[in-house]
Amino acid sequence: MTDGYGIVVIGGGPAGLAAAVAARDAGCASILVIERDCELGGILNQCIHNGFGLITFDEELTGPEYAARFEELARAGGIDFMLDTMVIDISADKIVTTVSRAAGMVRIRAKAIILAMGCRERPRGALNIPGYRPAGIYSAGTAQRLVNIEGFMPGREVVILGSGDIGLIMARRMILEGAHVACVAELMPYSGGLKRNIVQCLDDFGIPLLLSHTVVRIEGAKRVEAVVIAEVDGCGKPIPGTEVTYPCDTLLLSVGLIPENELSLSAGVDLSPVTRGPVVNEILETGVEGIFAAGNVLHVHDLVDYVSQEAAVAGRNAAAYALGTLAAPSCSVPLAAEDGVRYTVPQSVDPVRMPEELIVRFRVDNVYENRYVSVYFDGERVQHRKRSILAPGEMEQVKLRKSDIEAYGRLEKITFRLEEA
Ligand SMILES: Cc1cc2nc3c(=O)[nH]c(=O)nc-3n(C[C@H](O)[C@H](O)[C@H](O)COP(=O)(O)OP(=O)(O)OC[C@H]3O[C@@H](n4cnc5c(N)ncnc54)[C@H](O)[C@@H]3O)c2cc1C
Repeated sequence: MTDGYGIVVIGGGPAGLAAAVAARDAGCASILVIERDCELGGILNQCIHNGFGLITFDEELTGPEYAARFEELARAGGIDFMLDTMVIDISADKIVTTVSRAAGMVRIRAKAIILAMGCRERPRGALNIPGYRPAGIYSAGTAQRLVNIEGFMPGREVVILGSGDIGLIMARRMILEGAHVACVAELMPYSGGLKRNIVQCLDDFGIPLLLSHTVVRIEGAKRVEAVVIAEVDGCGKPIPGTEVTYPCDTLLLSVGLIPENELSLSAGVDLSPVTRGPVVNEILETGVEGIFAAGNVLHVHDLVDYVSQEAAVAGRNAAAYALGTLAAPSCSVPLAAEDGVRYTVPQSVDPVRMPEELIVRFRVDNVYENRYVSVYFDGERVQHRKRSILAPGEMEQVKLRKSDIEAYGRLEKITFRLEEA
C-alpha cells in the first residue's frame, strides 16, 4: 500500500488529462494519473486525421496534437503519472489496485477517484453473423491502430459494416493507403456518425453508404473471400432476394462502442442501461460518494472538445471533494428523457449546489427534422428551441439555469423531450 493521493485518475486519455489539469488548477496538489498504455493520450494517439480541437483551441488539430497540448499542461508540474500500469480493482472505500511489470501489485488509497477509462468497440461475436472465423475481420479501431501506429495494412479489398465515426474515418484512411473500399453497410436507416464525416470520408471518395443493409454471410474459411450484404426491413430483418455478394479480403466492423465500466461495477457504481456509463449528478459524481466520471466511460462522445469540457467539471468537483470544500448535497431532482430523447447526462441535479449554468448533454433516438427541443419543469414548458435536424450521431446539449429553477420554486422533475414544430 502506498501513501494516499488526493485524487487518483484512472485513464490517461483526453478525459483523464483534462480532469487532472482542472483538479490541479482548482487547488488539489496531490494527483495521480494511472494509464495502462506506455504513453498518455488515449485513443487520440491513433487518430492521425485532423478535426480535433475546433472548439477548445479554435484550430484544426490531429488527435496526437490535441492530446499533446493537454499532456504538456498536465506535465507542467504537480501531477504524478504511472504508465504501463493497469488498474484491476477499485473498492467502494476508494482503494485502487494496480499491476505493472515494474512495480508488481500496488494498492493506492485515494480521497477521490475520477473514472476516465474510455470505451471499447463491439466485437464480431456480438453480431451473430454466420460463417467461419477467417482472418481479415477487424474492428475499425484495431485496423486504425495497425495502419496508423504499427504500419501494417489489414487488406486491399475492403467492406465496412457500420457507419459510426471510426468506420467512416477508416473508409477514407484505407483509400488513402491504396486499398479499395467497396461500400459501407449500415443496419439503421441513418448513419451513426457525424454528418461532416459522411461528407469528408465517403462522399468525397465516392464510397457508397448502404443504409438499411447488413452483412448476412461471411465467405472464406482461412481468409475472408467475400461478404454477402442484404437489405433489411423496418425491424432490421434481412429481406430475402436482396442479397449481393461483395468479393473482398477484409471486413471492418464499426458497430458501436461500449463504455469500459467493469472497474466502476467493482466499486459499486450504478450504471445507466441506456448509456452503459455511470449514473451521475450535476457535479458528475457517481452514486458512490467521491467517485466521479467523465469522457467516453460516462457516455460515448462525438467530439473530444466536449470530453475535455466535461472532464474539467469532474476534475474541479473531485478537487473540492478531496479538499473538503464541496458543498453538501441538499436535494436531488431527476432529469427525465422522453419522446425522442434517449438519455441525459447528468441524470439528476441538486438545485442548490448546481452552478448558475449547467450543461445537460443528450442524444436523440432517430433522425428528426424541424423539431423543438423542449424542457419542462414538472408540467410547465420552460425552454422550446427549434432545430432543423437532429440525428443520433450528433451529441446535443441544453443549458439549465440555477436562477430559473430557483424562480420556479419546488420542483419534482425536469423533463427533456422533442416536440413537433
Ligand atoms: C477512431 C476514432 C476517431 C475519432 N475522431 C474524432 C474526431 O475527428 N474529432 C473529435 O473531436 N473526436 C474524435 N474521436 C473521439 C475522441 O477521440 C474521444 O471522444 C476521446 O478520445 C475520448 O476520451 P477518453 O479519455 O474518454 O477515452 P480514451 O481516449 O479511450 O482514453 C481512455 C484511457 O484509459 C485507459 N484505460 C482504460 N482502462 C484502464 C485501466 N483499467 N487501467 C489503466 N488505464 C486504463 C486507456 O488505455 C486509455 O488511454 C474519435 C474517436 C475514435 C475512437
